[in-house]
Amino acid sequence: MFDDVNDLYQQVILDHCKKPRNFHEMPTATCSAQGHNPLCGDNLKLFLTLEGDVIKDASFVGSGCCISKASASLLTDNIKGKTKAEAEKTFEQVREMITTGQVNGDVGKLAVFAGVHKYPARVKCAILSWHALIGALKGENQPVSTESEQN
Ligand code: ZN
Repeated sequence: MFDDVNDLYQQVILDHCKKPRNFHEMPTATCSAQGHNPLCGDNLKLFLTLEGDVIKDASFVGSGCCISKASASLLTDNIKGKTKAEAEKTFEQVREMITTGQVNGDVGKLAVFAGVHKYPARVKCAILSWHALIGALKGENQPVSTESEQN
């Protein structure tokens, strides 16, 4: 899959792909959004529990390739405890990193996706769960598709 990317990064992605974190439905979620990437066939649903402005809990279900699952898994770990504004800022950092390879600020473990920009077909797999996050935060009930985005 990634021949020349850092081995450690590849291991983290494979680990989260095989054993996704927060991989379950959330009946108590306050908002959710469906994400679909028709180019690859990735389908996932993201659940959030908001308390005021803070994301108390996050989970996801669905099926897709290794990159999309690992991305959603790391996303749900990353955004727990963040405010909406902080999560939106992280989305911007991740989008820039995934599309250009440039890491701005501290993105923690999400840095494992910096190598994805070298594989244009995989960019949408990696960004899918982040579009679902923004859709859920906005309270949009429309499914999010990577094909409606200009990126
Ligand atoms: Zn995919």
